[in-house]
Amino acid sequence: MPSTTYGGATDLHWQGWSRTTNDQGRIRNVITVDFLVIGAGIAGASVASELIRHGSVLLLEAEDHPGYHTTGRSASMFLEFHSDATLRALVRHSRPFFDSPPQGFAAQPILGNRGVLFIARSDQLNSLARIIDKNYEDPARVLRGDHRLAVSKHPALRPESVAACLWDPDAMDIDVHALLHGFLRAFHQSGGQLQTGERVTALRRDDSCWKARTDKADYRASVIINAAGAWADEVGRMAGAQKIGLVPKRRSACIIPADTINVAKWPMVGDVDEEFYFKPDAGNLLLSPAEETPMQPCDVYADELEIARAVACLEAATNIRVTRKIGRQWAGLRSFVEDKMPVVGYDAKADGFFWLAGQGGDGIQTSPALARLAAALVMDEPVPDDLASDGVTREVLSPKRLTNLKNS
Ligand SMILES: Cc1cc2nc3c(=O)[nH]c(=O)nc-3n(C[C@H](O)[C@H](O)[C@H](O)COP(=O)(O)OP(=O)(O)OC[C@H]3O[C@@H](n4cnc5c(N)ncnc54)[C@H](O)[C@@H]3O)c2cc1C
Repeated sequence: MPSTTYGGATDLHWQGWSRTTNDQGRIRNVITVDFLVIGAGIAGASVASELIRHGSVLLLEAEDHPGYHTTGRSASMFLEFHSDATLRALVRHSRPFFDSPPQGFAAQPILGNRGVLFIARSDQLNSLARIIDKNYEDPARVLRGDHRLAVSKHPALRPESVAACLWDPDAMDIDVHALLHGFLRAFHQSGGQLQTGERVTALRRDDSCWKARTDKADYRASVIINAAGAWADEVGRMAGAQKIGLVPKRRSACIIPADTINVAKWPMVGDVDEEFYFKPDAGNLLLSPAEETPMQPCDVYADELEIARAVACLEAATNIRVTRKIGRQWAGLRSFVEDKMPVVGYDAKADGFFWLAGQGGDGIQTSPALARLAAALVMDEPVPDDLASDGVTREVLSPKRLTNLKNS
């Protein structure tokens, strides 16, 4: 696999480089940086763009291009909707960045209007009441109604299949490609370097310095930032770090061709118990069975049975009939620890090893706030004021909360 740099320039602020020999006696360059970030998904790209203000940063990505795994496979939604107040705060405090990113960050707006309609059958009315109470900071912001509200917001819904619904007008589409490449561009313009096609295969700490090995080179860094997504526990194991008990969970999606129907302005529709959801995607419909199937970290594929189940749900809830071949199908791994909160902070066992993992289904929409928080904690600074004043603490996200796990 080719190893590429972002944008091709090499205006770096490396601490330096030297040469060593590997086990076969071949000479290998050793590059030394302040911060080595493992994984160029949204987590690694966003934190690298923050850390570059504090020193030299190298971002290493195993695949040929950034965002290849979960980041490139999401439903791209911004939704201030979560049962946990800290996660809601992280979403809320990401919004100003999305609305007004730094100059030159992206050629187009990061967010686009969408809206989401949560629908409930008559046997799901309790679930609807529960999510209004638990998942919204300000329930007055959303509208509750019956099938008439549902059909007024979404012309394809069948009135007889919707007993009640919830309309959240503030849900937005996120342009994930523009966001990821905005972070990478900012990182690169400040002297950061992205190396793709380089998988970290070994980590060792000597003399207060980390040594990382890939099949191409050796690196030395004062701090390792583990932003390896579904592989974060594997990377932690290489470093002799604590186990955080990360469980990657598959979620499939597919494209339903819209033929001649103009779906562009339709809102997202989600079943209130997360049995399926669908939303417009580049003139067609993105449909997901919203499953959460535990998997080993891998290049995951869509599950055809789950896709078939989602199609059945779509046909039951709407007038849409899937008569043509389903388009592209894919799946991504949403990774969770036991309490389903992100893991952000220094490891309990391995000095200078920092976790930025476990973002589950919220890693895109929380990335600006999480990256600022992570960079502050890497530098041993306090939680940024705006997050602290909204109840975000280092303890609630610290990996140290997970130290009681077996084999930690
Ligand atoms: C179907 C689906 C829908 C979703 N919808 C939304 C949504 O609407 N809104 C939202 O906010 N979130 C959503 N998410 C969740 C979101 O996509 C994730 O939380 C986020 O992408 C995680 O980013 P990451 O950078 O941690 O992981 P990844 O994007 O997986 O990046 C980790 C990177 O680390 C690299 N890596 C691993 N090991 C190594 C190694 N040893 N050396 C070098 N590199 C390594 C991998 O190759 C990978 O590129 C969704 C996810 C799915 C699957």
